Amino acid sequence: MIADVVFDLPLAHPFSYALPAGLVVRPGQRVRAPLAGRLRVGMVVAVREGTGDALRPVERAVESAPILSAAALELCRWAAEESLSSWGATVLSLVPPPPKRADLVAPPPPAHPGAPGVPELWVDAGRDERLAKMLRDGGAALVITPDIEAAARWAAWVDAARLDSGATAGARRAAWFAAARGRVRTVVGTRSALLVPLPPPATVALVDEHDPGHKPPGAPRLHTREIVMRRASLESSRVLLLSATPSAETWWRCGAGLIRRRDAPAGPWPEIVTADTRGILRNHPLTLPLTRAIERSAREARRVALIVSRRASSLLCGECGHVLRCPECGVALAALRAGRALRCRLCVRTRPTPDRCPGCGGHRLAPFGWDAERVEASVRRRFPRVAVSRTDPRATVLIGPASLLTALRGEALGAVGIVALDAVLSAPDFRAGERAFALLWAAAEAVAPAGRVVVQTLLPGHYAVEAARAQARERFYDTELEFRSELGYPPFRRLCLVSAQGRSEAEARAGRGDCIVALAGVPGLKLYPPAAGPATPARGARWHFTIKGPPDVPRLVAGPLAPFLAKRRRGAPVVEVEVDPS
Ligand SMILES: [Zn+2]
Ligand SMILES: [Zn+2]
Repeated sequence: MIADVVFDLPLAHPFSYALPAGLVVRPGQRVRAPLAGRLRVGMVVAVREGTGDALRPVERAVESAPILSAAALELCRWAAEESLSSWGATVLSLVPPPPKRADLVAPPPPAHPGAPGVPELWVDAGRDERLAKMLRDGGAALVITPDIEAAARWAAWVDAARLDSGATAGARRAAWFAAARGRVRTVVGTRSALLVPLPPPATVALVDEHDPGHKPPGAPRLHTREIVMRRASLESSRVLLLSATPSAETWWRCGAGLIRRRDAPAGPWPEIVTADTRGILRNHPLTLPLTRAIERSAREARRVALIVSRRASSLLCGECGHVLRCPECGVALAALRAGRALRCRLCVRTRPTPDRCPGCGGHRLAPFGWDAERVEASVRRRFPRVAVSRTDPRATVLIGPASLLTALRGEALGAVGIVALDAVLSAPDFRAGERAFALLWAAAEAVAPAGRVVVQTLLPGHYAVEAARAQARERFYDTELEFRSELGYPPFRRLCLVSAQGRSEAEARAGRGDCIVALAGVPGLKLYPPAAGPATPARGARWHFTIKGPPDVPRLVAGPLAPFLAKRRRGAPVVEVEVDPS
């Protein structure tokens, strides 16, 4: 017998091995087999008849039975095709850690095809509580969180076993096989838990669907939401997407009838106050409205969260709030080192930094934002008797990034201050509006109805601010989707980032040039021919370019790019494609 095995390598095709007499393996089972001079763990994807005399043998099985169903293998093959990455790298990023010694395990439950339901989107304020209650009462369920901190909170909250890397390897394996046998009802994990087998009828819930943590760099190179929805359609499990501020893509799918949105009547909503910082915020991080909100909360013994977002690399006018944007792509331009030039991350065009603001003629163009340390020092000076901290969760005034609001969820804060919303709004990213809206909404959900959100911004009239203040989701998404449609961004067009990494600048540049030549003439694609733009990794050099195309862009570029992606040729640059870069 012959086994076809895939490995965690950027190689498109499985490798064939002979199965020694007495060793029986099945698809979905892990094995150790020799490759390029050493033993590696791989996944069996097929077993077929054959003598295999000329083939090297599999050394041994890692587990006594398959750990993945045929449907899960197929799901990974689809995800790999959809993201132009390898089947092996995808599947091996989604299985539990291998055991130290050969392990006896039970195979996954048999396939249970049925009519797939329509995925649901829960946006209302009670979404997390409703899911927690459902999990305590219901059948088999998998909860996917954007990071391990959230996985820890959910696991403690609903008393579930953990599948993420925050648990020990032994605990993760135990949780995986207990879930497969129906011994535990609920398991929680990050995206590495996406394939855990569950007895039917199962529910897969994706918490904070809009969170960038659901598409970090690396395998599987596809958004968690897409894999969850595909899995559900293969095994007819129920999908729940939870987010008060879903991605614009998901909102659009609701309109197209592909996802069912569960709306809820608007609940109590706090006052969202904007503090216009034109001309003043450079010197002091606290405006009068924010100072008053801190005072009032401290008096009422309620806590305050001050959100300090990372400084954006783009330039903003401190007088009028004008953001320097690429005229073609609409995203903020990023300042290059030394600040003398600006570059669009998408079309890679570079232009000199103007001396004066094109909006008002002012001279105060500078990167925008505060660092948390300086904000902390300012608050301490102003409120010497209040406990202020960036690290101590018991402090009265807590200072941190947006994730602080997730950590404090469930506590009715007296106030949330967004120290410089413009650092989010002017991020050089087409998702800047979506991210700002998500932050504002999370701030409003975190404060008590009688509390207050203070937003310090140079752009108080921005549609994300106005929609959040009015608690009007539709208004935000209507405007956002109009912008996406006009400039050709997801969900209307799809982006791919192609990079070529070589040992030298010349090699990387040539690799990128070869890819561009291969893609020339493919209908429906727009290539952004780079004027310049090396990004240098630790070793060698990397050159990249962006493709904009229709929703089936992975299939359009797969053929032309196959020769570059299929194998690692000695001396050739390594070409990678990031579909839907975030
Ligand atoms: Zn551009
Ligand atoms: Zn200006």
